[in-house]
Amino acid sequence: MSDPIETPVSRRLASVKNIIIVLSGKGGVGKSSSSVQLALSLLNQSPNNRVGLLDLDITGPSLPRMVGLDIPEATVHQSSLGWVPVYVDNKKRLGLMSIGFLLKDRGDSVVWRGPKKDGMIRQFLSEVRWGDLDYLIIDTPPGTSDEHISLMTHLHPLFQPTSKNPTTPNSILITTPQTTALNDTIKSLSFTKKLNLPVMGLIENMSGYICPCCNEISNLYGIQGQAKIMSENNNIDFLGKIPIDTKLVKLLDSVSKGELNVDVANVIIQDQDQQVQI
Ligand code: ADP
Repeated sequence: MSDPIETPVSRRLASVKNIIIVLSGKGGVGKSSSSVQLALSLLNQSPNNRVGLLDLDITGPSLPRMVGLDIPEATVHQSSLGWVPVYVDNKKRLGLMSIGFLLKDRGDSVVWRGPKKDGMIRQFLSEVRWGDLDYLIIDTPPGTSDEHISLMTHLHPLFQPTSKNPTTPNSILITTPQTTALNDTIKSLSFTKKLNLPVMGLIENMSGYICPCCNEISNLYGIQGQAKIMSENNNIDFLGKIPIDTKLVKLLDSVSKGELNVDVANVIIQDQDQQVQI
């Protein structure tokens, strides 16, 4: 069988070993913070790992703030080989691309129709000079919207592995224990099935609250265990629970002041009874 047609996107992403798309049915469940945590955990897994974070939340980019790059100096440079992502660390092991870096004023709102968003997403996928990456984490907006359709359309050539693009994209779903979030997760799952996008598993975020005084975990939503049951019913892995933790809130606050503490970022994942295993 002949190789699928190469596209600017497949050529650009040939230097990326693993693509992980982070999805959630509902907004505010912690998809962006989970994307950052995932990127930092993968960075910590090996000193040789290089990770890229791509913020596809065109109308509500939050990753620059979450990694401490919501600062005027953080700008994307255009080189002859493409856009240079903004690096979080001096060793250039974690790079970020977000529309947040392209806005004249960081407070500007982006009010774009589908075709314009599609053009931006195509450029993000085909023109960012990531170099060799072990992982590219793609943070998407909530639900299944124009951005998701554009993303999947442009990634389509990668779904047939070739010698140049040997691994196909994968996804992770984020939910909270709330029934509305779980119901919307079913819609995201259906989206992945329709598009043959493999799912690595489901993470339950905001799963209880850790008391900063006694470290006891309280169940805030009155229901428990539904995300695990949903994973079992849909034959996907349950990757674990992340409680509401003031340490994470402090971490994200401190990075927004221009400091990124990779070790602290992992505390949230590593010190829980039920660790998130990727
Ligand atoms: P989404 O990307 O799904 O819209 P965010 O990642 O932006 O959600 O998270 C929404 C808010 O909740 C953010 O302010 C974030 O800091 C906070 N948050 C997310 N997960 C947790 C958690 N496990 N503990 C405490 N705060 C959290």
